[in-house]
Amino acid sequence: MAITDLTLVQTIKALKDKQFSNEELNQAYLNRIKRYNPELNAFFEVNESSGVIPAAVKSLISTKGLKTSAGSKIIENYKPPFNATVIENLISEGVSVIGKTNQDEFAMGSSGENSAFGSTKNPWDLKKVPGGSSSGSAAAVAADLAVFALGTDTGGSIRQPASLSGVVGLKPSYGRVSRYGAIAMASSLDQIGPFAKSVGDARLILEWISGGDKYDSNCVAEKFKIQNSKFKITDQNLKDVRVGVPEEYFGQGLDEGVKEVIEKAIKKMEELGAEIVEVSLPNTKYGVAVYYIIMASEVSSNLARFDGIRLGGPRDLFGDEPKRRIMLGTFALSSGYFEDYFIKAAKVRTLIKKDFEKAFASCDVIVGPVSPTVAWNLGEKIDDPLKMYLSDAYTIPASLAGIPGLSLPAGFSENLPVGLQILGKYMDEETVLNVGEVLEKALNIKEKPRLR
Ligand code: GLN
Repeated sequence: MAITDLTLVQTIKALKDKQFSNEELNQAYLNRIKRYNPELNAFFEVNESSGVIPAAVKSLISTKGLKTSAGSKIIENYKPPFNATVIENLISEGVSVIGKTNQDEFAMGSSGENSAFGSTKNPWDLKKVPGGSSSGSAAAVAADLAVFALGTDTGGSIRQPASLSGVVGLKPSYGRVSRYGAIAMASSLDQIGPFAKSVGDARLILEWISGGDKYDSNCVAEKFKIQNSKFKITDQNLKDVRVGVPEEYFGQGLDEGVKEVIEKAIKKMEELGAEIVEVSLPNTKYGVAVYYIIMASEVSSNLARFDGIRLGGPRDLFGDEPKRRIMLGTFALSSGYFEDYFIKAAKVRTLIKKDFEKAFASCDVIVGPVSPTVAWNLGEKIDDPLKMYLSDAYTIPASLAGIPGLSLPAGFSENLPVGLQILGKYMDEETVLNVGEVLEKALNIKEKPRLR
C-alpha cells in the first residue's frame, strides 16, 4: 500500500508509529500532484513547503499568503493577510495546506466549468465533470493528491462533487463550523466541510474544524464531539435505527442506474437491522426555485464589494454565472418585487424546513440519492443553466433547512461513482456519521480511479 492510499486516521497512526516521516508523507503527495495535476487541474496553487499532514483547501477559503481567487479573475491574485478560522484550527491539529483547489467562480455551479481558470476533470473519467462547486477538492481526494480536503456547501457543493467523484463529503449543520475567512456566497446557507477518504476521517476533521468563533456570530459554541447517540459505532449494525425514505427523491428525473445503486444501499441498511420507513417531504418540488431567489438575493449583496473600485482592477471581470445571479438577486430584492419574490421564497423555505421536522418525528436519518445522475460530459450542460440548476434538486432542500448531510460512496453506474445522501436532524452529525460508517464497512467499496 502506498503512503497516499492511507486514510487520515491511518496516516496519523503511521506517523505516530514512525512508519514514515512528515517529509516523506508530503513528498509522496507532492509527487502525485506533480504527476497528475497538469491533467486534472484540481489545484490552482501548490504549497511546496507544506510541512505536516497535507490538506487541500478550496480556493475561496482564506489562507495567509496563498492565492485565494475563489475561481474568479476579479480577485485572481488576492493573497489574504490572514487565515480563515478553519485553517487556524487545522494548523493547531498538525495539518498544513498543500494547495488551493479549483472551483466554480464564487462557488456558483455544479460542474466546475464556471471556474475562470479552466475546469477540473473527473479522475474516474477525464471527459467527465467532477461536480461542483468544490470541484478541485473532490478530485484531489479522489485522486489521492491530498489526505483530505475542505470545501464549502451552499446548495450542494460538497455533497454533489463528493458523489460524482466517489469520495466521502460532509455538509455540517448550518452554524456548526465557523465561516470566518470563507468568501461569502449566500450567508444564510454557506457552510464549510470536509472531503475525506473515509467516514471516520470526516468525523475527525469535523471535530477539528467545528466550534465557537467570536468572528462568526452564527456559529454555535460547542465543538462537535462524539457523544452518546442512542446508536454506537462499535455495534457494527443498524439495529434500532429508523431510516426514512422520501418518495419525492425517487421520482421523475432520477437515472435508473443511480436509483438501482441507492435502492441496493437501502436494502443493505435493512439487512443490517435498520427499520425502513416511508416519509414525505412534499415541498421538495419548490426547493430549486426558492433557493435561486434566496441565494441570488444574498449573492447580489455579498458580491457588491467586488466592484473593481476598491480592488483597483478592471470592472468587467465577472463571468456569466455571477452576473446572471447578481441581476436575478437585485431584481428579487427591488422594491415592488421584494414581497412577491424574496418574502414568498422565505416563507416557502420555512415550509421546507417543517417538512424535515415532521419527517424526523418518525425516523433518525433520511436517505436518498445526492445527484439524479452520475458525472456528465464536460460541456454537456454549460449552455443550459436551468438544466444545471435542476441537478441540485436533492441537495438544496437540506441546505435551506440547515441540516447536516453526508455523501457516501455507494456503488457505480456506467462505471462512474454514485453517492448515497444521508441527512440528519439539525446538529445531529453524530447519527449521520455513525450510520454512514457502518454502511461504509458493509458496502466495502475498494475501487479507485485508474490514473495514467
Ligand atoms: N450548485 C449550486 C449552485 O450553483 C450549489 C453551489 C454551492 O453549494 N456553492 O448554486
